[in-house]
Amino acid sequence: MAQFKAGILGATGAVGQKFIRLLQNHPWFEIQALGASGRSAGKPYSDAANWIESIPLPNSVKDLKVRNCVSSEFTDVDFVFSGLDSSVATEIEADFAKAGIPVISNAKNYRTDPTVPLLIPEVNPDHIELINTQAFTSDGSGWIVTNPNCVAIPLTMSLKPLYDAFGIHSVVVTSLQAISGAGYPGVPSLDILGNVIPFIGGEESKIREEPLKLLGNLENGRIDHAVFPVQATATRVPVINGHLLTVNVKLEKSPSDATEIAEAMKSWKSPIGKLGLPSAPQFPLHVFEDERYPQPRLHADSENGMQTAVGRVRSGDVMDVSYIAMAHNTIRGAAGGAILNAELLVKKGFIK
Ligand code: NAP
Repeated sequence: MAQFKAGILGATGAVGQKFIRLLQNHPWFEIQALGASGRSAGKPYSDAANWIESIPLPNSVKDLKVRNCVSSEFTDVDFVFSGLDSSVATEIEADFAKAGIPVISNAKNYRTDPTVPLLIPEVNPDHIELINTQAFTSDGSGWIVTNPNCVAIPLTMSLKPLYDAFGIHSVVVTSLQAISGAGYPGVPSLDILGNVIPFIGGEESKIREEPLKLLGNLENGRIDHAVFPVQATATRVPVINGHLLTVNVKLEKSPSDATEIAEAMKSWKSPIGKLGLPSAPQFPLHVFEDERYPQPRLHADSENGMQTAVGRVRSGDVMDVSYIAMAHNTIRGAAGGAILNAELLVKKGFIK
């Protein structure tokens, strides 16, 4: 039996649809309400949304009437997921938090707010405590938690064991990002087919900054950010799902060889492994020995799209280590990551 009633803001968009798909038969959460813009509000979901998921539109949401994204229309939910366009997320998410409705967001708007947890449950679960420093409501009932950018997630998942074992001096990363990351209809086919687009607006600053907050220490109610430079290049490639990154890292403490680095990744243990969260992958970080892997088409769906895959771990002449990291951008990098955040927030007593 589901215990918590969830709303979805931005329910008609690409991320909103992924939420609907992933929440079908969720053991803890049931979809109570769907919200979108005034263009969609008042219509049955089946009329408002251009359904692009590869399963039939679930009967449970077909006839739900889409609501306006105002808190007064969502008094019957325990919390909301947000897949809102960033041009409207600041005001709408604050409206919900002020009304005492927790918001678990995919949008970038609050990620750098010093009182808002930027959360990957396997990396920085303790940052959840930042919620206690938020001032949306006097009784702490309304708050915002965000998940990171879809490249920052596999990058930080793979850096975490290296950061803990060796310390990080500097990182150079290039992303080869899937088309689905641009929403729907996204990039015109004539631009992307048989091509690589060497720039994604606004992406590189997120890749540079978010890992430093994620790897920071929570002390006295604030995050002391990790300090190392990240040089990022973001490109779009003709892949449907799965962002692949080439990562080069200079470490503070030099390992003896690449095997020691791969071992640090393989032996790393997720701090949430024993919490029994329904969406948590059994192996959040998988290290391939086979040099042909990981590949987006073969491995983006591993562990229901929640695993970060690493491969080609090798030492280098310029940096200490080079490797490939890859994760499903709309599952681990968006809706699935947010659902895992919500599960941790239930376990820690913030959603009740
Ligand atoms: P999208 O397909 O363009 O969907 C945007 C959603 O926002 C739609 O439901 C839209 O409703 C709603 N919306 C737009 N204007 C609104 C308004 N004035 N009031 C209320 N709702 C409004 O975008 P997306 O790709 O799903 O991305 C959603 C968010 O997640 C963005 O902030 C994005 O940066 C972030 N994100 C996306 C990905 C990804 O892989 N796609 C990954 C991580 C994070 P209507 O249909 O009614 O217009």
